[in-house]
Amino acid sequence: MRIFHAVEQVRAGLAALPRPLGFVPTMGALHAGHLQLARTARQQCASVAASVFVNPTQFGPGEDFERYPRDVQGDAEKLSGAGVDALFTPDAAVMYPPGFSTIVDVGALGAVYEGAVRPTHFRGVATVVSKLLHIVQPDVLFVGQKDAQQSAVLKKLVRDLDFPVRVEVVPTVRESDGLAMSSRNAYLSREQRAGASSLHGSLECMLEELRNGADASRAAQHARAQLDAAGVWDYLDVVDAQTFEPLQHLRAPAFVIGAARFGSTRLIDNILVSA
Ligand code: AMP
Repeated sequence: MRIFHAVEQVRAGLAALPRPLGFVPTMGALHAGHLQLARTARQQCASVAASVFVNPTQFGPGEDFERYPRDVQGDAEKLSGAGVDALFTPDAAVMYPPGFSTIVDVGALGAVYEGAVRPTHFRGVATVVSKLLHIVQPDVLFVGQKDAQQSAVLKKLVRDLDFPVRVEVVPTVRESDGLAMSSRNAYLSREQRAGASSLHGSLECMLEELRNGADASRAAQHARAQLDAAGVWDYLDVVDAQTFEPLQHLRAPAFVIGAARFGSTRLIDNILVSA
């Protein structure tokens, strides 16, 4: 696997690779969920590129940018083992040189749920992914359903701005107790980790209530109580899968979405209800 740090370098290096080219953008601290994206890309594409970049503009003030786990060397070994051909891992100064000021904002979809709790988050995501798509120029962009709203934001970005790329959403990889794999799980204490799987359990409970005919507020009321005592809800809801507008009753395609804090660690999860 070749490793690139500069824009011109990676452009030249990728130009020689056979098409279609799959691309897996990440913030590193890679786990089996990320590697599932890389393996899926390997199966579907002739070449695979990945990026590791802890993007400062998608973190708000007081969030975990400084302490976000970083292990580029370990990440490179894992990506190479998953069959990735090229890794782009730029410094912040390469992505945001002095004078950088252009922002990509997808509007209402980026302002609700995760966007309401983290007001500048999706602007940061949409801007950095726009840059990465221009730099890497892949044919297929691989993203995780784990971050369902982010995937919806990126599909909208690609559609609205006519990026010549297909977005492929890969199902969430979970620990054996149902907890969605996340780089942030490393922050959890032993007690918090034991309770954290109740986030997924609450979403399953919510879906069952909805399937039994309960409306969203009643289903959420019941399901909220399933969260471990160590957790505090940010939100629990059922939304249209494309717009993230709240639904009163289950109507596929939809996501049951939830976010909860365990101490200072914020975890998100979702269940897709297919049409
Ligand atoms: P991140 O490094 O957190 O920015 O994630 C990079 C990509 O991996 C995103 O598209 C995520 O949605 C995806 N991802 C993260 N966790 C998982 C998981 N448990 N299962 C599947 N994809 C994941």
